[in-house]
Amino acid sequence: MVKATPIRFNPDLLAREAVQYQAELPLAQFTRLADLLHEPAGGMQAVFRFSKRKKMVFIAGRLQANCTLLCQRCLEPMQYEIDEPFELVFAVDELAAKAMPEAYDPVILDENGQIHVVDLFEDELILHLPTVARHAESDGCKLQEFAYRDTKSDVAENSESEKRTPFDVLKNLDLN
Ligand SMILES: [Zn+2]
Repeated sequence: MVKATPIRFNPDLLAREAVQYQAELPLAQFTRLADLLHEPAGGMQAVFRFSKRKKMVFIAGRLQANCTLLCQRCLEPMQYEIDEPFELVFAVDELAAKAMPEAYDPVILDENGQIHVVDLFEDELILHLPTVARHAESDGCKLQEFAYRDTKSDVAENSESEKRTPFDVLKNLDLN
Protein backbone atom coordinates (compact mmCIF):
# COMPACT_ATOMS: atom_id res chain seq x y z
CA MET A 1 0.00 0.00 0.00
CA VAL A 2 1.32 3.42 -0.97
CA LYS A 3 -0.03 6.54 0.71
CA ALA A 4 0.26 10.14 -0.41
CA THR A 5 2.32 12.23 2.00
CA PRO A 6 0.61 15.23 3.63
CA ILE A 7 2.27 18.57 2.70
CA ARG A 8 3.12 19.11 6.38
CA PHE A 9 3.29 16.20 8.79
CA ASN A 10 4.46 14.83 12.10
CA PRO A 11 6.98 12.04 11.28
CA ASP A 12 6.37 10.36 14.64
CA LEU A 13 2.70 9.84 13.73
CA LEU A 14 3.43 8.58 10.20
CA ALA A 15 6.08 6.19 11.56
CA ARG A 16 3.33 4.31 13.43
CA GLU A 17 1.88 3.10 10.14
CA ALA A 18 4.03 0.55 8.38
CA VAL A 19 3.13 1.74 4.88
CA GLN A 20 5.07 3.14 1.98
CA TYR A 21 4.57 6.81 1.31
CA GLN A 22 5.02 8.82 -1.86
CA ALA A 23 5.39 12.51 -2.56
CA GLU A 24 5.24 14.47 -5.81
CA LEU A 25 6.05 18.16 -6.00
CA PRO A 26 6.80 20.66 -8.78
CA LEU A 27 10.45 21.78 -8.61
CA ALA A 28 9.23 25.41 -8.72
CA GLN A 29 8.10 25.00 -5.09
CA PHE A 30 11.70 24.50 -3.96
CA THR A 31 12.76 28.13 -4.04
CA ARG A 32 16.44 27.66 -3.12
CA LEU A 33 16.78 24.80 -5.61
CA ALA A 34 14.92 26.74 -8.31
CA ASP A 35 17.54 29.51 -8.02
CA LEU A 36 20.19 26.98 -9.06
CA LEU A 37 18.27 25.68 -12.08
CA HIS A 38 18.19 27.09 -15.59
CA GLU A 39 14.41 26.86 -15.35
CA PRO A 40 12.30 25.32 -12.57
CA ALA A 41 10.40 22.94 -14.89
CA GLY A 42 9.43 19.39 -14.01
CA GLY A 43 8.93 17.77 -10.68
CA MET A 44 10.27 15.60 -7.91
CA GLN A 45 8.98 12.17 -6.98
CA ALA A 46 9.93 10.27 -3.86
CA VAL A 47 8.89 6.95 -2.34
CA PHE A 48 9.90 6.16 1.23
CA ARG A 49 9.14 4.49 4.52
CA PHE A 50 9.44 5.71 8.09
CA SER A 51 11.04 3.65 10.83
CA LYS A 52 11.80 4.15 14.50
CA ARG A 53 15.14 3.16 16.03
CA LYS A 54 16.40 4.18 19.48
CA LYS A 55 13.58 6.73 19.83
CA MET A 56 14.60 8.40 16.58
CA VAL A 57 12.42 8.54 13.47
CA PHE A 58 14.17 7.76 10.19
CA ILE A 59 12.92 8.20 6.66
CA ALA A 60 14.50 6.18 3.86
CA GLY A 61 13.65 5.73 0.21
CA ARG A 62 14.39 6.93 -3.27
CA LEU A 63 14.29 10.40 -4.78
CA GLN A 64 13.91 11.27 -8.46
CA ALA A 65 13.89 14.59 -10.30
CA ASN A 66 14.59 15.86 -13.80
CA CYS A 67 16.37 19.19 -13.56
CA THR A 68 16.98 21.69 -16.35
CA LEU A 69 20.50 23.06 -15.99
CA LEU A 70 22.69 25.19 -18.22
CA CYS A 71 25.68 23.37 -19.71
CA GLN A 72 28.73 25.39 -18.68
CA ARG A 73 30.60 24.32 -21.83
CA CYS A 74 28.13 25.28 -24.60
CA LEU A 75 25.68 27.39 -22.54
CA GLU A 76 22.70 25.40 -23.86
CA PRO A 77 20.04 23.91 -21.54
CA MET A 78 20.51 20.28 -20.53
CA GLN A 79 18.50 17.71 -18.60
CA TYR A 80 20.04 16.30 -15.47
CA GLU A 81 18.41 13.35 -13.75
CA ILE A 82 18.63 12.84 -10.02
CA ASP A 83 17.77 9.27 -9.02
CA GLU A 84 19.22 8.54 -5.62
CA PRO A 85 18.50 6.61 -2.45
CA PHE A 86 18.32 8.69 0.71
CA GLU A 87 18.08 8.23 4.45
CA LEU A 88 17.37 11.11 6.80
CA VAL A 89 16.63 11.30 10.50
CA PHE A 90 14.33 13.81 12.17
CA ALA A 91 15.68 16.05 14.93
CA VAL A 92 13.52 18.14 17.28
CA ASP A 93 15.96 21.07 17.10
CA GLU A 94 19.47 22.20 16.08
CA LEU A 95 20.95 20.93 19.35
CA ALA A 96 19.50 17.44 18.96
CA ALA A 97 20.78 17.36 15.37
CA LYS A 98 24.33 18.24 16.49
CA ALA A 99 24.25 15.52 19.16
CA MET A 100 23.59 12.82 16.56
CA PRO A 101 26.31 10.51 15.21
CA GLU A 102 28.13 12.04 12.23
CA ALA A 103 26.91 9.40 9.81
CA TYR A 104 23.34 10.61 10.34
CA ASP A 105 21.78 13.15 8.06
CA PRO A 106 19.37 15.14 10.27
CA VAL A 107 16.48 17.36 9.20
CA ILE A 108 15.08 19.71 11.81
CA LEU A 109 11.40 19.76 12.72
CA ASP A 110 9.48 22.96 13.45
CA GLU A 111 8.32 23.89 16.97
CA ASN A 112 5.20 21.75 16.54
CA GLY A 113 7.24 18.64 15.72
CA GLN A 114 6.21 18.86 12.08
CA ILE A 115 7.96 19.30 8.77
CA HIS A 116 6.94 20.57 5.33
CA VAL A 117 7.78 18.23 2.44
CA VAL A 118 9.69 21.05 0.70
CA ASP A 119 11.97 21.46 3.75
CA LEU A 120 12.37 17.71 3.93
CA PHE A 121 13.68 17.24 0.39
CA GLU A 122 15.19 20.56 -0.67
CA ASP A 123 18.72 20.12 0.75
CA GLU A 124 18.79 16.53 -0.46
CA LEU A 125 17.97 17.65 -4.02
CA ILE A 126 20.54 20.48 -3.95
CA LEU A 127 23.17 18.03 -2.69
CA HIS A 128 22.77 15.91 -5.83
CA LEU A 129 23.18 18.73 -8.36
CA PRO A 130 26.55 18.64 -10.17
CA THR A 131 29.12 21.25 -9.12
CA VAL A 132 29.62 22.16 -12.76
CA ALA A 133 26.82 21.22 -15.17
CA ARG A 134 28.04 19.79 -18.48
CA HIS A 135 26.40 17.72 -21.19
CA ALA A 136 27.57 14.13 -21.19
CA GLU A 137 29.95 13.32 -24.12
CA SER A 138 27.18 11.49 -25.99
CA ASP A 139 24.47 13.99 -25.16
CA GLY A 140 24.80 16.51 -27.98
CA CYS A 141 26.91 19.24 -26.43
CA LYS A 142 26.86 22.10 -28.95
CA LEU A 143 30.52 22.66 -28.30
CA GLN A 144 32.15 19.39 -29.33
CA GLU A 145 35.13 17.99 -27.51
CA PHE A 146 37.54 18.79 -30.40
CA ALA A 147 36.36 22.40 -30.41
CA TYR A 148 36.97 22.54 -26.66
CA ARG A 149 40.51 21.21 -27.14
CA ASP A 150 41.17 23.78 -29.92
CA THR A 151 40.14 26.59 -27.61
CA LYS A 152 42.53 25.35 -24.97
CA SER A 153 45.47 25.06 -27.39
CA ASP A 154 44.71 28.56 -28.77
CA VAL A 155 45.08 29.93 -25.29
CA ALA A 156 48.35 28.05 -24.87
CA GLU A 157 49.68 29.40 -28.17
CA ASN A 158 48.71 32.94 -27.30
CA SER A 159 50.55 32.86 -24.02
CA GLU A 160 53.56 31.32 -25.82
CA SER A 161 53.66 34.13 -28.38
CA GLU A 162 53.28 36.72 -25.64
CA LYS A 163 56.48 35.44 -24.14
CA ARG A 164 58.26 35.97 -27.47
CA THR A 165 57.03 39.48 -28.19
CA PRO A 166 59.59 41.84 -29.76
CA PHE A 167 59.06 44.23 -26.84
CA ASP A 168 60.86 41.77 -24.60
CA VAL A 169 63.97 42.41 -26.64
CA LEU A 170 63.54 46.17 -26.17
CA LYS A 171 63.10 45.71 -22.40
CA ASN A 172 66.34 43.80 -22.27
CA LEU A 173 68.11 46.56 -24.20
CA ASP A 174 66.81 49.21 -21.76
CA LEU A 175 68.27 47.27 -18.86
CA ASN A 176 71.69 47.32 -20.51
ZN1 LIG B 1 26.91 21.46 -23.68
